[in-house]
Amino acid sequence: MRILLTGTSGQLGHALLPHLPATAIVHAPQRAELDLSNAAQLRLCITDFKPDLIINPAAYTAVDLAESEAAQAHAINAIAPAIMAEEAHKLGAGIIHYSTDYVYAGDKADAEANWQAYVETDVTAPLNVYGKTKLAGEQAIIASGCQHLILRTSWVYSNFGKNFFLTMLKLARERDQLRVVNDQWGTPNSADWLAGATCEILVQLQQTQDQSSWWQEFGGVYHLSAAGKTNWSAFASRIIALADEEGLLGKPAPAITGIPGSEYPTAAARPHNSLMNTRKISDKFKLAIPDWEDCLRTCLHSMVTQHYKA
Ligand code: NDP
Repeated sequence: MRILLTGTSGQLGHALLPHLPATAIVHAPQRAELDLSNAAQLRLCITDFKPDLIINPAAYTAVDLAESEAAQAHAINAIAPAIMAEEAHKLGAGIIHYSTDYVYAGDKADAEANWQAYVETDVTAPLNVYGKTKLAGEQAIIASGCQHLILRTSWVYSNFGKNFFLTMLKLARERDQLRVVNDQWGTPNSADWLAGATCEILVQLQQTQDQSSWWQEFGGVYHLSAAGKTNWSAFASRIIALADEEGLLGKPAPAITGIPGSEYPTAAARPHNSLMNTRKISDKFKLAIPDWEDCLRTCLHSMVTQHYKA
């Protein structure tokens, strides 16, 4: 299988690379070789390499900056996936594309105002430019008629790259007090778990004789997320408590105060509820869904073992 993988300098692309089947021929160009905002370069890359599968974790992910760089965000999050899908369709290839909880308005609740997890068929209504461009990317892939899996995930972190988890660890080593938003709810997802789960699905595709029937039966939009629910402040507390247990702080843990999002204004509006129901993906692919805290423990533990190896 020939796989074109984007975004390997990012959290998820970096985590995907070692999980891909050893038998696959993988082409994973960096931005210097393939700039996704360059449509002609992207088309040429696909027609030259002729992938059987495109895996696209690359994205414009600077959520606040996207408010003032909408054209650039649209080029990478909407136009590039549209081109990938169009070229994949011509080649009879498939695409695994990642999307986001930010396609939803984040206000799904029951009559008692308890947050309810979104299902894939719920109405989308992004609150910010990033969410709108990611939704446009999804829509273009679906409209192209290509074989696709669109995996919506949320709150991605890793011990590599730029993310909330590493930011909290850094701040915990520098400060005695942290103020973190506590009225936005969701589920953190480790890039490593997301990559492993994607590749479990990929193995199922590889083992199938009739791959076009497989895409017909299994293609579509899915929520790919760990289980459980937290808010950013509680997530920060858990990161710091576990890091302290692993001896990663080197000082007493800081005190954490929960604050409403209104006290931490950002350029882009954030959803209050990012919870995603994962029954569809776990049923279809017999995928075991771990609790988010177990993935966090694994991620922190890997930092300790890497530290001792170094
Ligand atoms: P990162 O921001 O860590 O990585 C993004 C990747 O995209 C980088 O490799 C970056 O390359 C690449 N990229 C951006 N612009 C271009 C371009 N013009 N040409 C080539 N490459 C480019 O993203 P994540 O790994 O965190 O996200 C993976 C997926 O998950 C994305 O689809 C994202 O929308 C989705 N997602 C992420 C969430 C999160 O919390 N991070 C939450 C929900 C969904 P470079 O290093 O050169 O900039």
